[in-house]
Amino acid sequence: MKAEIDAARQCLFCRIRDGEIPAEIIYREDGVLAFRDIDLQAPVHVLIIPEKHIASLAEAGEPDDELLGRICRTAALIARRESIEQSGYRLVVNNGPDAGQAVDHLHFHLLGGRSLGWPPG
Ligand code: AMP
Ligand code: ZN
Repeated sequence: MKAEIDAARQCLFCRIRDGEIPAEIIYREDGVLAFRDIDLQAPVHVLIIPEKHIASLAEAGEPDDELLGRICRTAALIARRESIEQSGYRLVVNNGPDAGQAVDHLHFHLLGGRSLGWPPG
């Protein structure tokens, strides 16, 4: 438990949530926070996170089901607000080293505004 508290204290996205690190926050409601990625990979690149610290998708449990559902629906809402609903968009979770997860706080990348290749490299 103490290790988890320490991890959350040092966590970049927990610090953004707490206003300790600046970010362009575009949505905050019902335990869900969204802000623009600092290194845009597409014209629209938003990170959507649970406000509570969950290290990765693998760490999410059954009690988080509703929260995860809300995050997905928030992604669709933001896509509409960002005017990429018709052109299309992608929602991505990187989990673990092979996927290149760099920040150990669960986050969903919402990407759109350009044609996205498949499969990802
Ligand atoms: P991932 O590789 O899936 O863990 O994605 C982490 C994402 O966090 C990357 O796309 C980074 O560009 C982004 N990122 C890192 N630091 C910040 C920050 N201070 N504000 C916004 N996005 C960030
Ligand atoms: Zn965190």
